[in-house]
Amino acid sequence: MPWLSVVQARKAESVGDGVEIRGWVRTRRDSKGGFSFLEINDGSCMGNLQVIVPAELGNYQSEVLKLGAGCSVVVEGELKASPAKGQATELAARSVRVLGWADPVAYPMQKKGHTFEFLRTQAHLRARTNTFGAVARVRNRICDSIHSFFQEKGFLLVHTPIITGSDCEGAGQMFRVTTLDPANTPRLPDGAVDYSRDFFGKPTHLTVSGQLEGETYACSLGRIYTFGPTFRAENSNTARHLAEFWMIEPEAAFFTLLENMDLAESFLRRIASDVLEHCSEDLDFFVERIDKTARAALTQLATVPFRRISYTEAVRLLENSGESFEYPVRWGIDLQSEHERWLTEKQFKQPIIVFDYPKEIKAFYMRLNDDGKTVRAMDVLVPRVGEIIGGSQREERLDVLEARMRECHLDPEAYWWYLDLRRYGTVPHAGFGLGLERLVQMVTGMANIRDVIPFPRTPQSAEF
Ligand code: ATP
Ligand code: MN
Repeated sequence: MPWLSVVQARKAESVGDGVEIRGWVRTRRDSKGGFSFLEINDGSCMGNLQVIVPAELGNYQSEVLKLGAGCSVVVEGELKASPAKGQATELAARSVRVLGWADPVAYPMQKKGHTFEFLRTQAHLRARTNTFGAVARVRNRICDSIHSFFQEKGFLLVHTPIITGSDCEGAGQMFRVTTLDPANTPRLPDGAVDYSRDFFGKPTHLTVSGQLEGETYACSLGRIYTFGPTFRAENSNTARHLAEFWMIEPEAAFFTLLENMDLAESFLRRIASDVLEHCSEDLDFFVERIDKTARAALTQLATVPFRRISYTEAVRLLENSGESFEYPVRWGIDLQSEHERWLTEKQFKQPIIVFDYPKEIKAFYMRLNDDGKTVRAMDVLVPRVGEIIGGSQREERLDVLEARMRECHLDPEAYWWYLDLRRYGTVPHAGFGLGLERLVQMVTGMANIRDVIPFPRTPQSAEF
């Protein structure tokens, strides 16, 4: 008998087939007419398969009547057209084999309506709920779209290192990687840690971005992208920050900021239309249970051109907004989340790209504009999430880059390999970084970033 997934078995064309289903019981209801209903889910889709179990089965009394949420079963039977609303098929069981029991008193997922806070303490089981199943499927679809999009556009996937020897990449606090014994650290005569005795013979960290290494391949192969784990040790306990997250970083030789913006825009558009097309059932759930604007936001993302405004213009709008922000606005400040959200949610009510930021608030590698004050940076801001992409055209002029590094108190010597790209056959190039989890938040409407990654790492939290 063929083994069908629930998503296959729920299709009308499967009616009439003898099939086997393997999954977990969500609920059991017993009818007075001498049979029971089981709702079976196997993760292949949001919907369950309804199974009708006749009392005649040999293990009906001894086993079927003891089944409850979380038990795993193999059911054989015939798929029939279902008279019930909301499902095309149901399974008339000929046998029910129990693989694993779940004690109804102890099983934490027995009850419905747990808070997300509680479910974070049950990260190993929460994927069995509707919400986390839907998040996992949407996240998977997005990852598939990411690769398809870049592969179709001729971008090469490059794996940049997770352990990095670059001192600082200008993007926040880093986690140290070491094999030195913290209780017995080797010291130099002056008391400083002797890193020559460490595993790599120098200080090393977990990467905060694959960009610098990515640039080396873009400046050889043309168009590349990286997609890997990224680490930031900032102690920011917000609903949009993780200590470990996944970042997509395309980098393209001969791209200017304009082409970079076009790339970011068509990329997000593609993700949105793929999710609309392939995750409709999960999206229905998010609209109904999480955020009723989720589908409208995606449709807008897929169809409406992004508004593009300079940082200077954005500051002018904020100054004239009449809002009282917690962080007052003036030219030169780093835009805070409240400012970003006002711009994208209140002022424009759609995704926007802000470009040409003051150099003081951006990284050293961003290309200096002719005004000497701003750099070719861009941030994509979307309603509900704020910053989802940060990118720039990179400084390709050796002398300007070295001067910027000194301004930022970075030692050009330490970046000798990065500067070589400017010494030998330098070209204009550009790229951006997109946080996968912020994208999943944007698509699903999930309010907290801890609920869109299987095992979130945040300050004081790494249980699993
Ligand atoms: P923010 O200002 O929101 O903290 P950032 O400016 O430090 O972000 P970038 O260095 O520009 O972030 O990183 C590129 C992208 O990576 C961001 O646009 C965002 O989507 C994502 N990102 C950055 N930090 C985090 C984090 N701690 N957790 C999850 N995603 C992140
Ligand atoms: Mn940024």
